[in-house]
Amino acid sequence: MKTPFPSQSTPRDVLFRELEAAREHDVDWRGGRLGIYTHFGGDDVLEVAKDASRMYFSENALGPSAFPSLKRFEEEVVAWTLDLMNGSGDSVGSITSGGTESIFLAVKTARDWARATRPHIERPVAVVPRSAHPAFNKAGHFLDVDIRRVPLGAGFRADVDAMAAAIDHDTVMLVGSAPQFAHGVFDPIESLGRLAIERDLWLHVDACVGGFIAPFVRRLGRPVPPFGFEVEGVRSISADLHKYGFTPKGASTVLFRDREARRHQVFEFDEWSRGHYASPTFAGTRPGGPIAGAWAVLRYLGEAGYVRIAGEIMGAVDRLCDGIRAIEGLELLAEPPVTILCYTSRDGLDINAVARAMTQRGWFVTRGAEPPCIHMGMLTLTHVPVVDDYLTDLAAAVADVRAGKVTATSEAVTYGA
Ligand SMILES: *Cc1c(COP(=O)(O)O)cnc(C)c1O
Repeated sequence: MKTPFPSQSTPRDVLFRELEAAREHDVDWRGGRLGIYTHFGGDDVLEVAKDASRMYFSENALGPSAFPSLKRFEEEVVAWTLDLMNGSGDSVGSITSGGTESIFLAVKTARDWARATRPHIERPVAVVPRSAHPAFNKAGHFLDVDIRRVPLGAGFRADVDAMAAAIDHDTVMLVGSAPQFAHGVFDPIESLGRLAIERDLWLHVDACVGGFIAPFVRRLGRPVPPFGFEVEGVRSISADLHKYGFTPKGASTVLFRDREARRHQVFEFDEWSRGHYASPTFAGTRPGGPIAGAWAVLRYLGEAGYVRIAGEIMGAVDRLCDGIRAIEGLELLAEPPVTILCYTSRDGLDINAVARAMTQRGWFVTRGAEPPCIHMGMLTLTHVPVVDDYLTDLAAAVADVRAGKVTATSEAVTYGA
């Protein structure tokens, strides 16, 4: 790729016309056509997030002594999130740039804990369910930790016996998700906790999706299994602010059961001509906007606001489930405990063809691979008003496939680039 660097200044109005025009082919996420990559908690929430983030646009959390404001926001956001996750007074954490960085730091901390406590291990191993997010392999790749994926058990949940059998003397870490993204179900975190204690392993709970929705769905009186620090054996948790926290993108949390973990989290360096360097996260420069935005949105909504939003989304989930069950030939992969909903087909109906028919009707359809299914991603407030339209189109799409008007796509199932 070869394009000359812009030689002259471009007037502001020209730029912004171009920025606006560039969106022409982007998916209409505001219209509820997309179930991943964006999260919407209401126009008022979006305004608060944008305004707070703009106020701290230039500030940098790399320098907490220069910006005690950001230090305070980070500490409060972490403390509030620890409260949701049933942490103790000794629990600690950081705001990171996203779920991937939170997972990276958890794997790094577990690895360095293992290096300190069992130095004979040359190449540490994490045993994870097959449904665990690819960020664990990305982290393992950078950190020289082998990620051993274990086939799932009943209901697409982690098979704890199979995970126990996969543990060997190099194993240092276990992972469970709350919920996992692939099918939307919770792994049995309490059983994993018992296994972790029995074998003295580091258990990380990936609550990137569930962290800011599951506690509020529970407050609605719906059954949500325990997954936080109230479960013995859980040593770290990742919970994404920029998903169901509805905060600006570039914000997640990584949390540790006790202060001791900090020692293995922070990177310190003393052989630099500029002096001592210490950093708790992967990033050096850390934008102030997402931190201030997260602080403002959490305060703006409060528990009451999040419970209200969770109620509206779960209402849509219920209506979608009822509608899907009512269409002959479709079935849910699992009863969605929270806000990820997947369905597949039976009796010879081709789910990939149904996916294509829905795409033709203007929905940005994402599919799951094992088993082939339509994965409705993470439902948020944009989806509440379009439930009836979706179900009407889905019934018509199934009819089109049955009539042979649409056949399957052979494209691979992807997430990301
Ligand atoms: C989104 C997600 C992640 C990764 O988060 P990013 O913010 O995309 O880096 C990790 N785990 C689960 C279960 C997720 O859904």
